[in-house]
Amino acid sequence: MSNRENKTDVILIGAGIMSATLGTLLKELAPDWNITVFEKLDEAGEESSNAWNNAGTGHAALCELNYTVEKSDGSVDISKAIKINEQFQVSMQFWSYLVNSKLINNPQDFIMPLPHISMVQGEQNVAFLKKRFEALSKNPLFKGMEFSDDPAKLMEWIPLIMQDRPADEAIAATKIDTGTDVNFGALTCMLFDHLKTQNVDINYKHSVESIKRTKDGLWEVKVHDIDGCKAEYHTAKFVFLGAGGGSLELLQKSGIPEGKHIGGFPISGLFLSCKNQEVVEQHHAKVYGKAKVGAPPMSVPHLDTRYIDNKKSLLFGPFAGFSPKFLKNGSNMDLIASVKPHNITTLLAAGIKEMALTKYLIQQLMLSKEQRMEELREFIPNAKSEDWDIVVAGQRVQVIKDTEAGGKGTLQFGTEVVSAADGSIAALLGASPGASTAVHVMLEVIKKCFPQHVKEWEPKIKEMIPSYGVSLMQNPELLHEIHNSTAETLGLSEKEPVYS
Ligand SMILES: Cc1cc2nc3c(=O)[nH]c(=O)nc-3n(C[C@H](O)[C@H](O)[C@H](O)COP(=O)(O)OP(=O)(O)OC[C@H]3O[C@@H](n4cnc5c(N)ncnc54)[C@H](O)[C@@H]3O)c2cc1C
Repeated sequence: MSNRENKTDVILIGAGIMSATLGTLLKELAPDWNITVFEKLDEAGEESSNAWNNAGTGHAALCELNYTVEKSDGSVDISKAIKINEQFQVSMQFWSYLVNSKLINNPQDFIMPLPHISMVQGEQNVAFLKKRFEALSKNPLFKGMEFSDDPAKLMEWIPLIMQDRPADEAIAATKIDTGTDVNFGALTCMLFDHLKTQNVDINYKHSVESIKRTKDGLWEVKVHDIDGCKAEYHTAKFVFLGAGGGSLELLQKSGIPEGKHIGGFPISGLFLSCKNQEVVEQHHAKVYGKAKVGAPPMSVPHLDTRYIDNKKSLLFGPFAGFSPKFLKNGSNMDLIASVKPHNITTLLAAGIKEMALTKYLIQQLMLSKEQRMEELREFIPNAKSEDWDIVVAGQRVQVIKDTEAGGKGTLQFGTEVVSAADGSIAALLGASPGASTAVHVMLEVIKKCFPQHVKEWEPKIKEMIPSYGVSLMQNPELLHEIHNSTAETLGLSEKEPVYS
């Protein structure tokens, strides 16, 4: 039985960056709507969005080699890099709007300027990087990118990586100074603090257990109040499943046909974290290398300066691995429980197709710390084991579905929005490029689920995101203007801070 007093306009399940972003957008577009949030943990941004659970890269395709593909004719396809960069500009504009409107303060608490560097070794990879640089640097989105294979120049850019290398090693890098390190956990908390001031009803330690349609076309959500040890029922016209790895289970429980024939494949992550501050201070960049043959795209190795809790840190990884959990705080039964009669053939097909990936992940899981240090030494030749600790990162749940191009049981590496035909419920599945493109993805949710309001909301969306509906690549003047204004508002032109 539902309690009619618990009726609201919007329910957001999960207090990660996605719900935070959607809630903030909706409060700007429809301030009168009532929004209720349920989060099973005791704080916001504690799962994948937490700074230690992800790599904090503001993904703008400035350094990630997996976003540019070498085609069979030898040319480099940069279309994915363009798409991701344009999407990141949307996030930057929205965050700037929030700062300018004083809805959030102190941007340096969540975003810091940091050079983004791609680094490769070996003649063939150097040739690829040069071609990639030539293709990207002609595009206004990647203005300012530099290429070098000169060891003296590289020593200036990445001294920690260049020390103790053989003089005759073929090595090259590209560098661009407009990259960022983003603390998505801190941003999530800032957005929820703001939502609280807007009378959003935020309920921590409330786990959503099931969801079903009511006779009058609303959604009824059954919530377990963990401290109160009791069940609550809440209804809403619109529900967003922003539960990260928990979204698939809730989507299945909703019973909407769009949620059928979809499965999830969990991939866990580990980082090596440097505890020697002298080493940390010798590096100032995000340096992305090339994924090993057979490795999934999200295991591209990178050595990252991070700004977490007012301290400069250095992380290397992520090392992928296999765990049956869909959330870091999840259950070992998550994978098994996600197998349903409607998705079993999709999952079995993926199991057969992705045998090599499963084997790779299990091998990765079995690596000893010393074997992981060997991978780090491809970046820092003289890295010492005693300077590094292993830290467990977040879980990613890759979507498995049937596609025209890939056939039955195809593993997807992107982010997917699944919504009901009537727009009354939407789920966010998948992981990459993830948090960096949250604003673009949540605008997609709004377009899909509230088409009747989009026209009326467009002026406000354009006020928040001046490039909305416009290709920045084709409008270099607007791009220049946006680059300058977002850099100024978010404090990205300032020098590196000095932390103790
Ligand atoms: C190793 C790793 C590295 C990454 N690196 C990057 C990067 O460099 N840049 C980038 O942009 N992205 C990166 N990502 C991806 C990014 O972290 C995610 O895309 C993003 O954090 C997802 O946000 P979310 O809000 O969907 O999920 P989450 O942050 O996981 O939040 C979901 C919330 O829902 C809650 N929840 C779950 N089930 C329930 C339930 N039944 N009831 C109530 N609450 C529930 C959870 O407790 C959690 O708080 C990385 C991810 C990983 C794992």
